[in-house]
Amino acid sequence: MIKKDFPILRETVNGKPLVWFDNAATTQKPQSVIDRIAYFYEHENSNIHRAAHELAARASDAYEAAREKVKTFLNASSVNEIVFVRGATEGINLVAQSWGDHNLVAGDEIIVSNLEHHANIVPWKRLADKKGLKLRVIPVDDDGQILLDEYSKLLNSKTRLVAFTQVSNALGTVTPAKEIVKMAHAVGAKVLIDGAQSVSHMKVDVQDLNPDWLVFSGHKLFGPTGIGALYGKEELLNEMEPYQAGGNMIQDVTFEEIKYHKAPNRFEAGTGNIADAIGLGAAIDYVTKLGIDAIGQYEHQLLDYATKLLKEIPGVRLIGTAKNKASVLSFNLQGYTNDQVGQALNREGVAVRTGHHCAQPILRRMGVETTVRPSLAFYNTTEDVDTFIKTLWELKKVRF
Ligand code: PMP
Repeated sequence: MIKKDFPILRETVNGKPLVWFDNAATTQKPQSVIDRIAYFYEHENSNIHRAAHELAARASDAYEAAREKVKTFLNASSVNEIVFVRGATEGINLVAQSWGDHNLVAGDEIIVSNLEHHANIVPWKRLADKKGLKLRVIPVDDDGQILLDEYSKLLNSKTRLVAFTQVSNALGTVTPAKEIVKMAHAVGAKVLIDGAQSVSHMKVDVQDLNPDWLVFSGHKLFGPTGIGALYGKEELLNEMEPYQAGGNMIQDVTFEEIKYHKAPNRFEAGTGNIADAIGLGAAIDYVTKLGIDAIGQYEHQLLDYATKLLKEIPGVRLIGTAKNKASVLSFNLQGYTNDQVGQALNREGVAVRTGHHCAQPILRRMGVETTVRPSLAFYNTTEDVDTFIKTLWELKKVRF
């Protein structure tokens, strides 16, 4: 039923119906999102300078309505806490540069987890190298679960920031986010949550989780590429230095002095991605209509179903066996390279990612360089899983 809402899921690949199992990389878009973006260009397109003329008012209203949708989706306290950015990567870089570069000094410590995507490692490592900060890493157990005891040992009065993912893109581990935040705040550290892999699978409530910042990407939430959001506590955002500078982000400019807007405009220099912000709003409407809790429940059953069948195949090693997982099934198949498995699946129309998934430290921790990574979304079905499993059994029959 739900598949019908996604025109691309009617594609065939190598003569077979497409099975989209690359949802952790990016998700497909429902017709309502595609239509909303087209509607913008057909009826509303303008830069957002409200007072100028009718289309400017339409574009401004639609853009700000999308911000309101993000605010409600995350349960933020105010629209002023929602900054539109290119995606999770830009959100993290914004915090690293606008807050980290201006507030951290040599000897300060940043904690990340071993599970992080490169997007939540590289900006902090660069900052640490530039400023003489210490980067510390929360270890995981052999199932890929955060070791909270070890984390508590890393926290001290020099800890200024804890940056971690709510769901691992490589293993699917769901981290104990609320606990991690609470423990960081207890030593006075700020917290950034990478919500890139969580917002599409579970309710993410920033007032309940209580991070200082949270980032996500629209394209992993059934919305367009090139747009995402940074949530930040309002007071904190207003204390932060601007990120990029130019039009839209200033209140007043003279050659002697510049006065900046407050958040969110302070961080939205230049013409932003207006159409895709509005498209993201439509994606949030779609997900909200289905119900994020219902989505989570359905996906959980599908993940259990797929995990059980995958484990029955001789020579499969599941990488990432946390008790609490979302969407992701990373594995290796004995006798085959990951690329060979990926190609065999592609011949049957099944799209999976193979590689290091931009998370090399955690894969190396699990003793591998790369995996095959199917990742599920609510439009996937048990039939999709059966096609995937059948292909693996056929490979197994040929080579042990
Ligand atoms: N964090 C995680 C956990 C991710 O999975 C990804 C994307 N794979 C990112 C950050 C970066 O997202 P984007 O490329 O959309 O900025």
